[in-house]
Amino acid sequence: MKIIMLGAPGAGKGTQAKQIAEKYDIPHVSTGDIFRANIKEGTALGMEAKSYMDKGALVPDELTVKILLDRVAKDDCKNGYVLDGFPRTIPQAEVLDKAVAELGETIDYAINVDVPDENIIKRMSGRRACVKCGATYHIVNVPPKTEGICDVCGEKLIVRDDDKEETVKNRLNTYHEQTQPLIDYYSNKGILKEVDGTKDMKEVFDDIVKILG
Ligand code: ADP
Ligand code: ADP
Ligand code: ZN
Repeated sequence: MKIIMLGAPGAGKGTQAKQIAEKYDIPHVSTGDIFRANIKEGTALGMEAKSYMDKGALVPDELTVKILLDRVAKDDCKNGYVLDGFPRTIPQAEVLDKAVAELGETIDYAINVDVPDENIIKRMSGRRACVKCGATYHIVNVPPKTEGICDVCGEKLIVRDDDKEETVKNRLNTYHEQTQPLIDYYSNKGILKEVDGTKDMKEVFDDIVKILG
């Protein structure tokens, strides 16, 4: 099963993608996580990506597409994957379609996690992230068992550099300009599914499972 998660920054794509990956036993592929891992390791790719991420802009398609195609070519993606944060532009979607079509396959679902902008700012200011394992928390909605520490791997949690309010506003603008058009793109392909992302995260997941079967 090949699934794409769509939605604004902070809509809950990562939170849901992790649960989908576990239930359907497919890898969770997050371009944001790949970039953050590279930033942490100080690679050239990480440094370049960071210059865009810190502004709330997108990393250029050419760079992002290469990384994503390398990742989904790996063995563990043979039976499918859940993409979180990719595609984010129409050209990225077209490249993905072409790559999947070359294998004689198709994307099964594009799930749009719908959350209005007003709710987003609140969510982002409370987000805490583990850069080691990719787990995400929220100081009010999803607190870790021990404050500031990842439940899964014990790493210290961080506030992402790009979760500052000013940057979040830029990310929302970027989303509306460059990513939202993908909703129509996948709707026209007949694979778009919408879920109400303002619901409790467990209810959102139940709604997704109803779609995926
Ligand atoms: P995205 O991957 O779309 O940027 P995340 O999954 O990281 O979003 O979620 C953003 C923040 O909102 C996190 O702090 C997360 O714990 C919290 N969150 C996720 N889903 C919900 C929900 N349904 N209700 C409330 N808070 C949520
Ligand atoms: P969120 O879902 O909260 O917006 P992500 O972790 O998906 O966060 O992305 C963080 C940042 O990484 C984005 O703001 C962007 O700069 C960069 N990024 C991630 N995925 C892509 C992509 N597919 N294309 C371009 N830039 C990306
Ligand atoms: Zn962790």
